[in-house]
Amino acid sequence: MDARAVNTWKAVLGVLQLQVSRPIYDTWLRNTVGVSMDGDVLSVEVPTSFSSEWLEQRMYHLIQKTASKVAETTMEVQFRVAGSDAVSQAPEEAPSYEPEERQLVARQPAPALNRKYTFQRFVVGPSNQLPYNAAMAAAEFPGGGSNPLFIYSGVGLGKTHLLQAIGQHCIAKGHRTLYVTSERFTNEFIAAIRSKTTEDFRARYRNLDVLLIDDVQFISGKEQTQEGFFHTFNDLHYADHQVVLTADRPPKAMHLLEDRLVSRFEGGLVADIQQPDMETRLLILRSKADQMTVKIDDSIIEYLAQIAQTNVRQLEGSLNRVAAYAQMTQQPISLELVSQLVADLVHTPNRRALEADTIVDEAAGYYHMSAEELRGPSRKKDVVRARHVAMYLLHEERGMRDTDIGRNLGRCDHSTVSSALRKIRSQINIDVQLRRDILTIKEALYS
Ligand code: ADP
Ligand code: MG
Repeated sequence: MDARAVNTWKAVLGVLQLQVSRPIYDTWLRNTVGVSMDGDVLSVEVPTSFSSEWLEQRMYHLIQKTASKVAETTMEVQFRVAGSDAVSQAPEEAPSYEPEERQLVARQPAPALNRKYTFQRFVVGPSNQLPYNAAMAAAEFPGGGSNPLFIYSGVGLGKTHLLQAIGQHCIAKGHRTLYVTSERFTNEFIAAIRSKTTEDFRARYRNLDVLLIDDVQFISGKEQTQEGFFHTFNDLHYADHQVVLTADRPPKAMHLLEDRLVSRFEGGLVADIQQPDMETRLLILRSKADQMTVKIDDSIIEYLAQIAQTNVRQLEGSLNRVAAYAQMTQQPISLELVSQLVADLVHTPNRRALEADTIVDEAAGYYHMSAEELRGPSRKKDVVRARHVAMYLLHEERGMRDTDIGRNLGRCDHSTVSSALRKIRSQINIDVQLRRDILTIKEALYS
């Protein structure tokens, strides 16, 4: 791949992202990459022939104009389908896949994993340490430890990244490995039933050392698929082959999932990824920025880490926008410009609206005490804990500085605050009750 093509196309995407609606961007543009630049022709790889057609017919003019502007010379853009032997799909079939999956479907049979989704590129912090360790262990000793491994989290927090990292690691070590979305698993299974080839289907899966199933929540409520899945799962599990699953919620919370599957999933290790804290967000952004050719100032990174807080995908998206502009204008970017570029992100969650007092009240209420007591001098264990949690939330949810937090919470000095924050950050990793407390308070704050 040619770096100039990659970067030019990234810059084009950055501009397009601001001009087209989000569903359009997500469906047709997100999973495309610039692959080569030959004179004035920029080649762009797209997941399917269907998307190539769509982009040509509906968006060519805008894309061509944007590319020319970015490259500062008249450019043509050529779309080509990823992997020359890609299977083209019937249009009526295509919309049932997410773009990301479409890419993988198109590249079958080889398990096409995103090369960027490796362990090395996964930034570890308190919010994801546990699932990260478990994923590493599963990759290093498939079937040897926690089996199955079940990872869950909200959207954009790194489930697919971790799952594919396991995949790349296992493939490199020569294990027979398959990454599949549960959507795809379902489709294959239904097709096997229709063509009466379920035996082949089972045999294919039975021969794996490592099976990675993404977004397993999609099989809940689908009876036949659950049945097929149950048998596949047992085949592998009883032979001590590794199964790793991800979902957007814990097994018990999948209401339409059969009990026997729930108990199978819970029989191994269940680990969740939480929203990254401020420090981890900074590290993620810094590491993503370092992989780019444009230089992004620390003050900008800090700003982005503060506003785009809910998920890593959003964090990355905001950084890409800024990088695209920096690249296009070839000028240093001011914080003011950045704030314009990401204005829509700032207003999405009601995060800004949270008052410090609301946070303190909520934390005090949760621990059955008054805000005065929480702010008071007491050294009683539960009061200290409530106070520390309040500090943590003021830092995380409001981005307040240590000195301001100290002032708000009964004149603690900033070193008391920073040591409390450090403590919570490390505890949250091992103390399940603490995590649950913080999560519950956060939920109350935003409901
Ligand atoms: P999910 O599957 O949970 O919706 P993804 O795995 O698709 O989330 O992650 C969304 C994006 O965020 C990806 O580009 C991924 O590389 C990135 N990402 C998530 N967590 C991390 C992390 N800890 N370090 C680096 N990148 C991350
Ligand atoms: Mg995912």
